[in-house]
Amino acid sequence: MKNKKKNKGKGLLLKSELFWDVASRKEQNEAEKLAEEYKGFLDKVRTEKQAIRQCLDMAKKHGFVEADLDKDLPKGKSKLVFLNRGKSAVFVKLEAGRLTKGASFLLAHVDSPRLDLKVRPLYEDGEIAYFKPHYYGEIKKYHWPTTPLGLHGTVILKDGKEIEINIGSEEKDPVFLISDLLPHLDYERLEKPLGKAIEAEELNVIVGSKPIKDKEAKNRVKMAVLEYLKKNYKIGEEELVTADLRFVPAFKARDVGFDRGLVASYGQDDRVCVFTTVKAFLAANNSVTNILYLADKEEIGSLGATGAQSLFLENVLDCLMATVGRKYSLYDFYRHSKAISADTTGAYDPDYKNAYDMNNLIKMGYGLAIEKHIGHRGKALTMEAEPAFLRALINLFNKKKVLWQTGHLGKVDQGGGGSRREHCRVFIQ
Ligand code: MN
Repeated sequence: MKNKKKNKGKGLLLKSELFWDVASRKEQNEAEKLAEEYKGFLDKVRTEKQAIRQCLDMAKKHGFVEADLDKDLPKGKSKLVFLNRGKSAVFVKLEAGRLTKGASFLLAHVDSPRLDLKVRPLYEDGEIAYFKPHYYGEIKKYHWPTTPLGLHGTVILKDGKEIEINIGSEEKDPVFLISDLLPHLDYERLEKPLGKAIEAEELNVIVGSKPIKDKEAKNRVKMAVLEYLKKNYKIGEEELVTADLRFVPAFKARDVGFDRGLVASYGQDDRVCVFTTVKAFLAANNSVTNILYLADKEEIGSLGATGAQSLFLENVLDCLMATVGRKYSLYDFYRHSKAISADTTGAYDPDYKNAYDMNNLIKMGYGLAIEKHIGHRGKALTMEAEPAFLRALINLFNKKKVLWQTGHLGKVDQGGGGSRREHCRVFIQ
């Protein structure tokens, strides 16, 4: 990208540039094309499993093959994917068929906030059948009532077979809904602070309103829902215990504004980084082993069998090291590695000026944001990039004319987050 403007402060002032000012027409067209592909990706991905499946498909087109930790690695293959329960994955590109001592890591998370089901979700009240959810990740509860919802996920049946459910994405599908109190009856609640106005137990999702025929039966609407689930999915109340189902907004990705400059969609944290890191990883061509780790459970602290704090990555690396005769340890491998953890940040929103430090703003359109550290309250729970690594990264971006900016996620003590620490337990060094 060329910037023909004279830059008087060159070398003294840190200046970010707006993509639309510096990009050529061709580059702008490429960006629009990539955004179309990204929207298609978002529309196919409502769950972490679907995200992994899409990424696997993209990788397979580039010659990647699935590898199984319990079997011999595919012979002579340099591009391997290790899946963890279909919800997280480690993609490995070996350098010239060999595991180098250390790797370049990219990380992103495939999960997004949502409404999971409780283990006994189905009940009837006022002749309406509901699924009672337990929210997953940090949500603002007032976003969810009156938002049309889709139901997505999997259920394990008695015979161990997994079935997938996707309702709400297509125009012909029904949606599910959390009701809200009409304004004329809501004076009392409208006095409450925003964070307390809607309780978690009030986020109940309407799933049915027609009864079974038997007028003597109890819970006739609930029974009608169970009959429907049995007939269409072989699901009874016991199967709902083993269900991995969640409600998410039923909208497809849409352009925002007359100029269509932005994308509105559910799940962009962190699937924007999933999509872009996969693209970058597949295109990368350098002289070390490249590893892409797409992890689950970041939104709830990266715990569990598919979160970044599990031992799955070590399991994969241990398996790969066995193939090189264990010439070095896992510790040595990590010490010689570099990692970039990708996640979303908060761009400046003029409606909420107070939340931001005006000298450390991340702004839309000014390129990707490098955050040296995150965290809050005295850098608690953060990890901080080593200055030398940061320098090398910035040098690389400058050399390759990658638009970048830097800043912080809002004011100190305003909020902040520590998620990348957990999600990237590997390190930036
Ligand atoms: Mn995130």
